[in-house]
Amino acid sequence: MKSAQLTGSSVEYPIGKILCIGRNYVDHIRELGNEIPSAPVIFTKPSSSVIGDGGRIEIPSYSTDCHHEAELAVLIGTQGKDIPQEEALAHVAGYGVAIDLTLRDVQSELKKKGLPWDIAKGFDTACPLSAFTPADRVPDPQALQIRLAVNGETRQDGATNLMINPVDAIISHCSTIFTLEPGDVILTGTPAGVSAIRSGDRIVAEIPGVATLQVSVA
Ligand code: MG
Repeated sequence: MKSAQLTGSSVEYPIGKILCIGRNYVDHIRELGNEIPSAPVIFTKPSSSVIGDGGRIEIPSYSTDCHHEAELAVLIGTQGKDIPQEEALAHVAGYGVAIDLTLRDVQSELKKKGLPWDIAKGFDTACPLSAFTPADRVPDPQALQIRLAVNGETRQDGATNLMINPVDAIISHCSTIFTLEPGDVILTGTPAGVSAIRSGDRIVAEIPGVATLQVSVA
């Protein structure tokens, strides 16, 4: 079982479900040629896809186009169902950074056929995840910067105030569909700049003041 760690605390949360929001930044929607959704796009990754800081990404043999998507990750600390937006942030235990790895070629093919994307998003190592900074040390999750560099070159640099659906709205909406439980993680979407990674690459994802995550590609 994988667990999430809160920095500066001995508390560990066994990771439950990982809910991911797609198409939450207009500039990323445009770079993929998608339409702005009328409601949040939600998909999931299994907890078995998580690797931690210092981990190694294994790109599956059935893909030749694995993309990085750096995202603000939200760790749920208390259970809730139908959570009002104004109470949503009180359910957050901490904030971290994640990379939503996506086999773009596989995903595109499956989307064309109207089939589920799971094998493009949920394979082993598809969810590099940092430790989490306790929520009381992150006064405003919409005032953060998300950066990702590959081999020292910046590929993504976006501000969380550009989210279409802010964190409190995401939590509230997700909780109308899924009971949120301690240890659940929500990935809140990626800003522009996604690109392919290759064997030997070194990747650093960072939310300054919140979390840093370094991983490599096998
Ligand atoms: Mg994503």
